[in-house]
Amino acid sequence: MHVLNKFKYCPQCGSKSIFFDKKHFVCGNCNFDFYINSSGAVAGLIIDENGSLLLTRRKFDPCKGTLDLPGGFIDINEKAEDALVREIKEELNLEIIELNFFGSFPNTYTFKEIDYYTVDLTFECKVKTFATLQANDDVSEVEFIPLKKIDTTEIGLSSIKTIVSTYIEKS
Ligand SMILES: [Zn+2]
Repeated sequence: MHVLNKFKYCPQCGSKSIFFDKKHFVCGNCNFDFYINSSGAVAGLIIDENGSLLLTRRKFDPCKGTLDLPGGFIDINEKAEDALVREIKEELNLEIIELNFFGSFPNTYTFKEIDYYTVDLTFECKVKTFATLQANDDVSEVEFIPLKKIDTTEIGLSSIKTIVSTYIEKS
């Protein structure tokens, strides 16, 4: 559900005279005007020495149990590159030493019935070593899968499915 459907009253003046479309919420009484934009998120493409792609398995909903790429939301005032370095350290205990922008992919991420509109900024990443690898945080396990053997129907989030399919096509 779009978050604006949760608004029943103006949060500034309490009026019921409210209007909204996909982009913003407006109060007809006090002119309170609140925009909803796409949230920034990051995803990392990491290839091991055998040419296999690192995929994670999601520990939590949405799409619990499906394959995913490491990454997550960008914090307020955080650079996308820093967010990916932070997320990959948190989820996998890996240190990124090189990042190259791959592309951006829009997504809708539903959490507790609220839809969050994201743009997933995707980077190809090189890591210092895989020796430190752990499955932490919201990752239940980590799999390295040769590109030709990846079953993209096992990927739960639609943008991640598109990212991995695009990456396989370009490789
Ligand atoms: Zn108002």
